[in-house]
Amino acid sequence: MSKLQILVVEDDAPVRNLITTTLKAHDYRFMVAANGADAVMEAASRNPDIILLDLGLPDMDGVEVIQRVRSWSHMPIIVISARSEDNDKIDALDAGADDYLTKPFSVEELLARLRVTQRRLALMQAGAGSQAVFVNGCLRIDYASGCAYLGEEEMHLTPIEYRLLCLLAQNTGKVLTHKFITQSVWGSSWENDVGSLRVYMATLRKKLEKPSGSPQYIQTHVGIGYRMVRVGL
Ligand code: CA
Repeated sequence: MSKLQILVVEDDAPVRNLITTTLKAHDYRFMVAANGADAVMEAASRNPDIILLDLGLPDMDGVEVIQRVRSWSHMPIIVISARSEDNDKIDALDAGADDYLTKPFSVEELLARLRVTQRRLALMQAGAGSQAVFVNGCLRIDYASGCAYLGEEEMHLTPIEYRLLCLLAQNTGKVLTHKFITQSVWGSSWENDVGSLRVYMATLRKKLEKPSGSPQYIQTHVGIGYRMVRVGL
């Protein structure tokens, strides 16, 4: 893959240095911003491939940075926040962030998140979201006929399970919050019904990951939401 350019937004110098040292060692290009205003300016003027964004910035909330960038760009955004800030993470994901890292994080975690995002970027550029058939490992969704298959076998899904599966598939690689999923599938009246969502997700996963040893297609992010991952790559 060609050298990606990462915009690192972090006001904490030691954390920023850890990130940039890691990026340099792994052949990424990078630029830095230490506050929200610079982050928005750099994102607009230099068009990075991915933004790594600390949520606690001195001049503005990281969520505001996301909202501003999202008003004109779909560039992937990975947010960085402390463990105690789960609600901030959820707000950031709902504002359009793609993924998150929790402080303190390891170099391996940072690189793993970047690889996931890089694959998502490649899919976005290939226009994967607009294709008629979705394929991930053994899973195949034929949007025109409204059928999903595991290998040769058609999956027997309820309408809600099928909609959940399509939503996750169309956002492969992105963490979707409970609120985003329930609003997309049921509309706003279900906004807070995380309990029902959990039940539907459990039955969907049972069907999807049925043969023991089959790959895990759906990741659970406790307290936050779900993500479909690329398997077999
Ligand atoms: Ca900070």
